[in-house]
Amino acid sequence: MAKNTSPSCKQCRREGCKLFLKGERCLTKCSFDKRPVVPGQHGTARKKFSEYGLQLREKQKVRRAYGMLEKQFRLYYERATRSKESTGLALLKMLELRLDNVAYRLGLGASRMEARQVVNHGHLTVNGKKVNIPSYQVKVGDVIAVKESKQSLEMFASLKEAKITTPKWLEFDVNSLTGKVLALPERDDIDLGIKEHLIVEYYSR
Ligand code: SF4
Repeated sequence: MAKNTSPSCKQCRREGCKLFLKGERCLTKCSFDKRPVVPGQHGTARKKFSEYGLQLREKQKVRRAYGMLEKQFRLYYERATRSKESTGLALLKMLELRLDNVAYRLGLGASRMEARQVVNHGHLTVNGKKVNIPSYQVKVGDVIAVKESKQSLEMFASLKEAKITTPKWLEFDVNSLTGKVLALPERDDIDLGIKEHLIVEYYSR
C-alpha cells in the first residue's frame, strides 16, 4: 500500500502551520516553533500565493493533517459532494469520523499516525467487534474500546493516570478505556483553522 514518506516536520513547514504529526514532541520540541520557514533554499523569502496556490495549500494542509494520500482524499471529496450538507463541512465530518481520527481524539494515540497504528494492530473494538480498518466510519452511538487483552500494554495502562480532554461529541472512560460517539462533530469541533471552502474551490476548478 502506498505511504506518505515525507518527513513530518517538513510537512508542517511546507504548510506554514503546526499539523501535530509527532504527538508529544509537537508540544515540547517542535521544530516549526524554532524554524517556521518553508523548506528549501528560498524558504525564508516571503511568498505571495495566487488564488490557486491558496486553494492548493489548504487542501494539502488538511490532507497531510489527516495523513491521507491524494487519491484517498479526492474520494472523500467526491463522496462529500453527494452529501445534503455543504461539501466542505461534509468532507471535514467524514475525516473526523474515521476510526483512526476518533482514536486520536480519544487519546489512544499521541498523533493520528500513532492512533492509526493502534487501529491497524487490531487493538480496538467497535461495538464489541474487532475493527482494524483506519478509514472505518464511526456512527453516533458507537462504542470504541481497547481490547481487554491489550489494556495492560504500557501505552494504554498509562492512560489510566492521564487527564484526557475529548471534544464534546465524544466521551471517554479512562478506567474501562472505552469511548462513545455522542453526536456528530460540529464545525467548531474541528481545529487547525481550516478554510474548507478553499478545498472545494480547488476541486471544483
Ligand atoms: Fe514537527 Fe509536530 Fe512541530 Fe509539526 S507540529 S513541526 S510534526 S514537531
